[in-house]
Amino acid sequence: MTKNQSTQSFDPLSFLLVFLLLCLVGLFAYALNNHSEVLEPFGFLFLAACGYFVFLRWSFRKRRASAELTDQDLLEKKNLLEADIRKEGEVVESLHKKIRNYSQLKGVSERLGLCLSVEDTTAAICREVNFLFSHGDATVILYEFHTKTGDLGITFSHKNQMQVHLKSKKGDLFDGWVVKTLQPLLVENTRSDFRFDMERNAPEEDRAVGSLVSTPLVVGHKVLGILRVDVPLENHFTVEDLRFLTTIGGLGAVALENAQLYDHVRNLAIRDSLTGLFLRRYLMERLSEEINRQLRHKGEMSLLMLDLDEFKRYNDRFGHTAGDIVLRSLAATLNETFPEPGNVICRWGGEEFCVLLPDCTKSRAAQLAEALRKKVEWQQIMLRRQETNITISVGVAALPKDAQFKEDLIARSDEALLKAKAAGRNRVVLC
Ligand code: GH3
Ligand code: MG
Ligand code: MG
Repeated sequence: MTKNQSTQSFDPLSFLLVFLLLCLVGLFAYALNNHSEVLEPFGFLFLAACGYFVFLRWSFRKRRASAELTDQDLLEKKNLLEADIRKEGEVVESLHKKIRNYSQLKGVSERLGLCLSVEDTTAAICREVNFLFSHGDATVILYEFHTKTGDLGITFSHKNQMQVHLKSKKGDLFDGWVVKTLQPLLVENTRSDFRFDMERNAPEEDRAVGSLVSTPLVVGHKVLGILRVDVPLENHFTVEDLRFLTTIGGLGAVALENAQLYDHVRNLAIRDSLTGLFLRRYLMERLSEEINRQLRHKGEMSLLMLDLDEFKRYNDRFGHTAGDIVLRSLAATLNETFPEPGNVICRWGGEEFCVLLPDCTKSRAAQLAEALRKKVEWQQIMLRRQETNITISVGVAALPKDAQFKEDLIARSDEALLKAKAAGRNRVVLC
């Protein structure tokens, strides 16, 4: 009930005034009836004064009512203005946030531009997004799209500036949607979004996903992957967040494509096109680095030099293309036998190969070489429905026992290889 209404419903002062007036009217009516000459003029005067007083009071009440109306009007206007100010404040705050975020983009683009390899670039994209969407529980995931298989694969996942390992490597329903539509996606509430049937999205992870933003990484017509941020909270992200992620995704996609091109060109420069093994130039670089490291730490490392036996005859008999198949098959066997990441397997030239085994003693290297020799000897290569096989000779030298410089180490292993050839081939000889 308003103030105005309560005044109208009960006013004790008016009630008292009316009561007094009635008493006075009664009194002066009595005086007039009894022809009291003293009371008569006073009675008229008093009645006039009362009438004037009633008029004043009526006029005052009228003005007060109008003032109250104006007051309410002003209050309403004040409330509206306050709401406007609040809204403006939110807009200003969001603009400040936008300015802050977009001013960071220059730095993001510079930092991404400094990354050369695909690994460094994906790690940098996730780090930057994690920093810009700094929410304690946010998980940033970068999926790469494998053009050969048409599948998504997690390349990097980050939470609280730490790398996390997720079980669902190929993405969920939401990631599938982004790949299919190639559109950015905002899901405010994963449980109530009608576009997704959560029954089908059997969670492989223990972590809860309440809301998410996701954007495809596209350069021209080429799809490189998906960049996604999710949090356990519902209604956490806004359209503005999605727009910002899409902008970072654009920068990230260009950086990722550059890194892929760089990796490709680098591979062309350091890898042999027939076997995919490293070229001699790369081995020489790695050999220098590794020798310095081993000499510093007083470690041991070995070098195998190996050559296919009577390969010219094999080529003459089965053809050059068949010879190429044998070379590729030997490369696969070498990769299988020496899988440790530090090892460097190189096509030294023609049908000669060289394997650098860091932190490997000479006797261990000899064991591995013998295992390889046996494997190659027993391996059957089918050519035009005919079983063929080939053998290898291997020379082994080690640092620091046999040599302290790379040229010497290569020469020693080569000498051992020549000894193996001279001794009748298909054998391992230590320097
Ligand atoms: P040895 O046991 O003494 O090493 O005899 P070999 O016949 O293997 O040695 P030789 O140096 O006489 O011949 C090497 C052959 O390797 C000659 C060449 O045709 C073959 N070769 C070199 N590079 C390639 C290649 O890329 N593909 C094929 N198919 N053959 C190659
Ligand atoms: Mg040979
Ligand atoms: Mg040779």
